[in-house]
Amino acid sequence: MSEPMKPPPPSTPSTPSTPLIVITGAASGIGAATARLLSSQGHPLLLLARRLERLEALDLPKSLCRKVDVTDREAFASAVREAEEEYGPTDALVNNAGAMLLSRVADQDPEEWDRMIDVNVKGVLYGIHAVLPGMLARGAGTIINVSSVAGRKTFPNHTAYVGTKFAVHAMSENLREEVAPAGVRVVTIAPGAVETELLSHTTDEQIKSDYQAWKESAGGALPPEVVAEAIAYAYHQPPEVTIREIVLAATGQES
Ligand code: NDP
Repeated sequence: MSEPMKPPPPSTPSTPSTPLIVITGAASGIGAATARLLSSQGHPLLLLARRLERLEALDLPKSLCRKVDVTDREAFASAVREAEEEYGPTDALVNNAGAMLLSRVADQDPEEWDRMIDVNVKGVLYGIHAVLPGMLARGAGTIINVSSVAGRKTFPNHTAYVGTKFAVHAMSENLREEVAPAGVRVVTIAPGAVETELLSHTTDEQIKSDYQAWKESAGGALPPEVVAEAIAYAYHQPPEVTIREIVLAATGQES
């Protein structure tokens, strides 16, 4: 007679079936759309950005909203500790906060390079630093870094920005190699143009209007909800499957 089937292992209260997800830059655009989607799927969330009122306006259940600048490593780590005390360990981090300040290098204020490097590169590392030790100890977790098509190829007036997004791609791949044997997944999400506030921070009006014209000539940009779906798709794979990278753009976007 064959052996009776073993019962499934008891679920531990510290790892609920809809565990905590941390999302940076959840105040608008892709981050806000991802927060809405993952919340609708039952996950408690830690939502981070500088505009606290925008996080709170999402009005999502089981969500802790904290005014955190991702360039502040200690504030980032402390918000993660606070959320984990309330909701248990972080199962996923969506490193989404970002800044895109387009310019020709010769014209650009170096302060803008500093800001993009601090937010897009160091902010991503600070997020990883806050959650990775716990993930390695548990042998589970997913780090989702939002890069860009501009992390794979260059575009006019994007020099410093592509530098930061190429860095996100490179760091993600290298981190994946480092943590894969421990059961931690690293995912890179690389969208083309998405209809968000991102362009609004560029100060050169001509570059902004050229970019808008380029988007329109491509038939418009992706809605942020489409990128949120891609993030959720990668996250919801079984733990033994890693979607290493998703590159997605509006069909009309040639470049
Ligand atoms: P948004 O400008 O709408 O969102 C950016 C988010 O990042 C905001 O919530 C903003 O909130 C937050 N943020 C910016 N700086 C900081 C900071 N120092 N600390 C904490 N949060 C910060 O743009 P998107 O949704 O488009 O951008 C999200 C990500 O997607 C970025 O990494 C971007 O590079 C990437 N991306 C976007 C594309 C697009 O075409 N839109 C294409 C490819 C990639 P707050 O200001 O309140 O802090």
